Amino acid sequence: MESNWHLSTVDETLSTLGAKREGLNAGEVQQRLSEYGRNSIPQPKSKTLMGIFLHQFLDPLIYVLIGAAIISVVTGDTTDAIFITAIIVINAILGTYQEWQAENSAQALRNLVKVRSRVKRDNGIHEVDSEELVPGDIVLLESGVKVPADIRLIESHDLTVEEALLTGESEAVHKHTDKLNGNGNIALGDRVNMAFAATTVQKGRGVGVITGTAAHTEIGQIADSLRQTSGEKPPLVQRMESFSKKISIIVLVVCVILGVIGYLEGMPPKEIFFLMVAVGVSAIPEGLPVALTVALSIGTRRMAKRNVIVRKLPAVEGLGSCTMIASDKTGTLTMDQQSVKQLYLPDGQYYEVSGQGYNGDGQILADGQPVTLDGQPDAEMSTFLLAAIMANEGILRKTGDGWEHSGDAVDVALRALSYKVGKDPKFFKAQAEVVEIIPYESERKFSAVFYKREGGQYFAMKGAVEIVLEKLGPTARDKVNEVAEKMAADGYRVLALAGSPATQTDLKQLPDLQLLGLIGMIDPLREEAKTAVKNCRDAGIEVVMVTGDHPATALSIARSLGLAESAEEVISGVELSSIDKLTPKELAEKIKAKKVFARVAPLQKQKIVEAMKSLGHFVAVTGDGANDAPALKSAHIGVAMGSGTDLAKEASSIIVTDNNFASIEAGVEEGRFTFDNLRKIIYLLISTGAAELLTVALSLFLNVPLPFIAVQLLWLNLVTNGIQDIALAFEKGDPQVMHKPPRKPDESIFDKRMNSQIIVSALTIAGVVFGVWLYLMKQPGFNERHGRTVVMMLMVLLQNFHVLNCRSETKSLFRIPLRNNWVLILGIVCAQLLHVSAAYIPGLNSTLQLEPIRMREWLLLLPAAASVLLVMELYKLIIHRKEVS
Ligand code: ADP
Ligand code: MG
Repeated sequence: MESNWHLSTVDETLSTLGAKREGLNAGEVQQRLSEYGRNSIPQPKSKTLMGIFLHQFLDPLIYVLIGAAIISVVTGDTTDAIFITAIIVINAILGTYQEWQAENSAQALRNLVKVRSRVKRDNGIHEVDSEELVPGDIVLLESGVKVPADIRLIESHDLTVEEALLTGESEAVHKHTDKLNGNGNIALGDRVNMAFAATTVQKGRGVGVITGTAAHTEIGQIADSLRQTSGEKPPLVQRMESFSKKISIIVLVVCVILGVIGYLEGMPPKEIFFLMVAVGVSAIPEGLPVALTVALSIGTRRMAKRNVIVRKLPAVEGLGSCTMIASDKTGTLTMDQQSVKQLYLPDGQYYEVSGQGYNGDGQILADGQPVTLDGQPDAEMSTFLLAAIMANEGILRKTGDGWEHSGDAVDVALRALSYKVGKDPKFFKAQAEVVEIIPYESERKFSAVFYKREGGQYFAMKGAVEIVLEKLGPTARDKVNEVAEKMAADGYRVLALAGSPATQTDLKQLPDLQLLGLIGMIDPLREEAKTAVKNCRDAGIEVVMVTGDHPATALSIARSLGLAESAEEVISGVELSSIDKLTPKELAEKIKAKKVFARVAPLQKQKIVEAMKSLGHFVAVTGDGANDAPALKSAHIGVAMGSGTDLAKEASSIIVTDNNFASIEAGVEEGRFTFDNLRKIIYLLISTGAAELLTVALSLFLNVPLPFIAVQLLWLNLVTNGIQDIALAFEKGDPQVMHKPPRKPDESIFDKRMNSQIIVSALTIAGVVFGVWLYLMKQPGFNERHGRTVVMMLMVLLQNFHVLNCRSETKSLFRIPLRNNWVLILGIVCAQLLHVSAAYIPGLNSTLQLEPIRMREWLLLLPAAASVLLVMELYKLIIHRKEVS
């Protein structure tokens, strides 16, 4: 396909592509879709299965095991060699499976975030899945959208596009539509009449024709070279990796000491080496990072079920420690179903509007009488509606089976008014012609239009009352302001509409505007939001509202949510306008006690976030607009709304698909659950490893035969224990977590509770095992192989009981329903069965030096193993007592 579109004029481009400004029709789209295929922009490659598998072997511990296998071959112990090799392979397969699963679910989550585009087709504007776009389609661009394909621009209103992904240039590029001159060697970043796939619109509006889709885009050409930035590892996993490394060094030293003791006691060198390897495997928590990754990925899946999509894994852990949620109002705490309820026209007349939602059902009523534009038309109403329809980017139309809408909710609500007086919006559009449009941007808080009508040219603007009021004459201002304040205090979201004749299209040279009307809208509260706000409070999380809306409207909504009480808790953007001069500390002092931030400009939002952070808060911030990106990035956790712009989504770490505040609360809860599970896994792995290390060390120091031989330790760690720790990741959460304050984000996992429970349980397990071992050795007719079989069985039992302890750090295990984690029960049974069968499988039993064990011994072992339950239950009881008092 030709790629010098930037050197052609718009008309040449359109004719080469066989396209029209009005867009393709359905038939053409179908035909092109089958010719060019779907517009799936190639994704950067993710990890391959083979890559993950090979990665499993890049671990010093595995090198040592491979070394051990080689030594076994050399010394003629082929069964040992086979056993060790098998363990290495099984371990790698398990690890691969887990990582692959985690990778796939991350991928699946990414695919849930669909990009949609607005496109002109069949003489109308439609919203379609971006994958259904074809060359020749006419696409509409607006601030915040991701450009869906390569596009030659045919219209540009202040269009600015950020292209860093493609050009490396972080400064956004201003676009226009003129043909460029040159010989074709114009760098991508300088092709200013093009917009390229995967870049994002920072501000303005544009229209363009698609010149290439999918692999035929500039990004498609280089996608192969874009390796996925291997998503940063969660801080916890990083910390555990470095912890593992530190432990490895300590263990290495301990191993050397044990080796020296063994040597002095006359153990053969090969046995010493094997023992050191085995002790290393027991004590180094090498499985920890993988187990934690699994737990995190289970967390993300659970969150997805509750409409929270995790884009960055660290957010799972972070959500649990969040201490403040700064939420948008519109769409998050309310439903973003704008309906106009009240109108005030300049003749002093109030109107009530009936109907609700995105449709034209209802009427405009003056003193209870429906207003129509036929017969004796209401001139003020006509002028008002004309302006409201002209300064409008929304779409609302009646289809066979209901209503179809797209675009800004405010704009759609205004279009509904037209139907409510019995007229299709086309009726108004036919009366005038747009000369220039100033689209709505949240930093401007208004939209405006210059239009021609009956020979004259006019200007109309609609937007936030204060902004529009400034443009009215001083006499009109006070009266209108009074009415608007009253409407806002009644909970209406108020917009003003004003206009004037205009001889040119320069905003600055307009005469004083005339008020055309005040619009009072209602956006119903989300019922669940109220409970969610309360739940967050219970969980020690402060909730504040950050909105672009009027302070009175914002306070009225905050009151109904139980979020704020009095006007003292509200601060408005105007009061914050001196914000630039304040340091974050000073600002923090100023806003510490505020709950509602009204008339906030997007950049102020980021300042507020910074100030909250300086107060020690761990902040989650919601956002949807293109301008929210800085705030989303600077928050600890950026939360984008599913309906938000692509730009906001890209800047965030989680996406709430249903836009609902209650889902954020659910995310926090899942985050806390997941974090608890991570602690449980760490608790289990460290305590059992320590117990094994202790028993071996004790035997060496006391110069008695070792209770475990090397291969047995390998078996315990890599097989039975490996099953148990993963199963803990499936533990259902304890709802109690939402009644506790958030955890401190920088608090070490190894706090007092963790350390003490590890020490107590490790000492208990080691004590029981070693005690039984000593007892067995004193028995007449003691046989080492049988003794080890008994001790091994005891160890597996102890571990199986201890997993049950680990299900909660504070609650008695008898108070946690078994059904909360069937995987764990299954894991315990599997581990036990596997171990019992190992004693019977020929070859395996000789390698592991196991033999069948007698019923009587079983009966004796059970209570011995249950001791770890008893001790830890007592421990929980004492700890609990202390905490309550
Ligand atoms: P919120 O925080 O409630 O999402 P916005 O930033 O969306 O607030 O809107 C701020 C103000 O901008 C609104 O109170 C309204 O006055 C004005 N506004 C919102 N949408 C539009 C629009 N489509 N056209 C003109 N003005 C608008
Ligand atoms: Mg908004």
